Parts: sequence; C-alpha cells; structure tokens
Amino acid sequence: MPRPISAILNLSALSNNLKVVRHYAPKAKIWSVIKANAYGHGLARVWQSLATTDGFALLDLNDAIFLREQGWQKPILLLEGFFEASDLPLLDRYRLTTTVHNAWQLATLKKAKLETPLDIYLKLNSGMNRLGFSGEAMYKIWQEAKASNNISKITLMSHFANADNTVGIQDQYTFIEESCKGILVERSLANSAAILWHPSTHYDWVRPGIILYGASPNGHVTTLKDTGLRPVMSLHSKLLAVQTLEAGADVGYGNCYHTKTAMRIGIVACGYADGYPRHAPQGTPIIVDGILTHTIGAVSMDMLAVDLTPCPQAGINSKVELWGENLSIDEVAAAANTIGYELMCALAARVPVVSHLD
Ligand SMILES: *Cc1c(COP(=O)(O)O)cnc(C)c1O
Repeated sequence: MPRPISAILNLSALSNNLKVVRHYAPKAKIWSVIKANAYGHGLARVWQSLATTDGFALLDLNDAIFLREQGWQKPILLLEGFFEASDLPLLDRYRLTTTVHNAWQLATLKKAKLETPLDIYLKLNSGMNRLGFSGEAMYKIWQEAKASNNISKITLMSHFANADNTVGIQDQYTFIEESCKGILVERSLANSAAILWHPSTHYDWVRPGIILYGASPNGHVTTLKDTGLRPVMSLHSKLLAVQTLEAGADVGYGNCYHTKTAMRIGIVACGYADGYPRHAPQGTPIIVDGILTHTIGAVSMDMLAVDLTPCPQAGINSKVELWGENLSIDEVAAAANTIGYELMCALAARVPVVSHLD
C-alpha cells in the first residue's frame, strides 16, 4: 500500500465555482486560468470540469497543445505569449491567442510566415512593472499591430497589483483609461480579486484563477463567506503513530517542541516532501479525527507532529485533514505566512490524487 496521504479533488466544486464567477461577472466572457498545472490540481484531471468556460488561459505551449489534442476547440490564451520565433508555427497550427507584451514579440510576429493571422492580447504595463508596453507607447503599438497582416483581432489586457488589498485598483484603472483613449478594442483586466471586489473592471473578458479553486485572493477565509465559492482540494492523511510523553520531553528535529505537561501527540504521514510548508510554525491548525488541533515541533520531510490534547479519542490510523473542506487552505497558509496559491501549487507529485463529484 502507498502512504496514507492523498489529495482529494471535488470536481463539482470546480464547476460550481465557475458558475459563481459567471454570477459575479454576468456580462463578461471567462478565461479560466489553468497555469501551473491548474494551480497544482492537475490540468488533465480538471479541465473538463471547466468545459463551460469561454476559454482557457495558461503559460505553457505544451499544455495548450494537450488541450487541442483532447478536443478543446474554444479559445486558448497564452498569458506570457511566445518565447521563441519557432513557437509561432505551433500557435498558427493550434489556433492559439497570444499575449504580445514586448517589442520583440511584436516584431517577431510581424515577420512570421503564418497560414492564418493570430488573435492577440496587447498588454499594457499599468503599474505592475512586470510585463507590458508603457502607457505612452500604447496607441502607436496598437496602430502598428492593427496594420500587420499577421494579426487578426486585438484585445487590450492589463493586470492589477492591488485588487486584493486596500490600495485597490483606482490609480491603475485611471492610468489604463488615459493610456488607452481612442484604442477601440475589447478589454480584459480582472483577476479573481477584481472579479469579486471591483466590478467596474470586468469589461469583456475576466481572468479568474484562484477563486475557481475555491481559495481567497487575499488570503482571508472570511472574504469567501457568502460568495458560494467552495474549496476544490483537500489534503488528507492519517496518524502513523501516537506517543504519550511526560513533561519535559522534546519532539522532532532540533527539539523545537518541549512538553510542559504530560501529553499525547500524534505523528501524521505528511511532510514538506508532500508540499506541506516546512516553515509552518507550531500552532498551525490541523484537523485530527474531526477535531481542530494544531501542529507541534518542526515539519519533517515525511512527517509532522500534532497535539492530541483536544482529541483524546484519536489513535493510530485516525484521519487527518491538513486543509480542505473543513479547514480552509487560506487559514493554513496564513499560519505559515504564505498564501493558498503557493500551497496548492506546491502539492508534490508523490501525493496520490483522487477526484470525485459530490
Ligand atoms: C495568474 C493570472 C491571473 C489569475 O490570477 P488570480 O489571482 O489567480 O485570479 C489572471 N491574469 C494573469 C495575467 C495571470 O497571470
């Protein structure tokens, strides 16, 4: 038998979350973002549960080709565009929409020999300062793109740096409005946070990622309350061992935990090599045998320790939920000083995955 750890994917929750996005942005079309192996859930496992989406947005050309080979005919958007001139015949053959975010991409696309012109997403750098053309350049770049025989439909894209926090979107939004005066094309601006909290940004195409997987864009569990969004991934395991300790005992590497009184602890079959964050401090919430408790000591490669004081009935083989339907990934991430995005993307390949519908 394999180790008792598994990631359980509720594919009904995924389809539900896409419906929730439609409810929030009823007039927009939806690019379901499935980069990073569908945020760690496994592209091959989950894409069909999102098949009512209007398009898929991703980074890797191989993933785009995979979807086409599976029979997906609706649009596919490459969020970073192409990386080599030799990618372009594949974009042409598989009818992929490409982001164009720099001068090299635009020049290379203009020079290419294509069977059919490509649809492009022209990216404006509106303050994130990662990808995109400057505000001043934008109008000229648009005209240049419009004049190319290799370019068919043009959509304007930009990305918000602070849609999930109190800084908000207003400055970037105003910048976009001003830089794109007279550029009369469809727009795609909104990520998950903007979909939930800034409806003025929805425009023609929205780009949800994290909320499809049922976690919060800002890391606060409470923000998803009453949205109807549901977690897709649950990480489950079991207790491998129980230790009954006297006061003054040490637990785990580096003796990080020192018992103050006699206590029972459980050893869980889950460690950082499964994707559980090693920097999760003791006190990180965890559910054992249906009861909320917390971790103690350092997370090891294959195991971690929990306090069994709140769950005296728990014993060897008791069930453990590391995150999921009863314990939000956002809470675990917050305790570990990170975000749900990182935890789900870091799920290790060695963890068996089981999918179900509810
Ligand atoms: C990843 C990504 C998204 C989705 O972001 P979420 O916060 O997960 O909704 C949207 N747009 C672009 C360009 C991205 O790279």
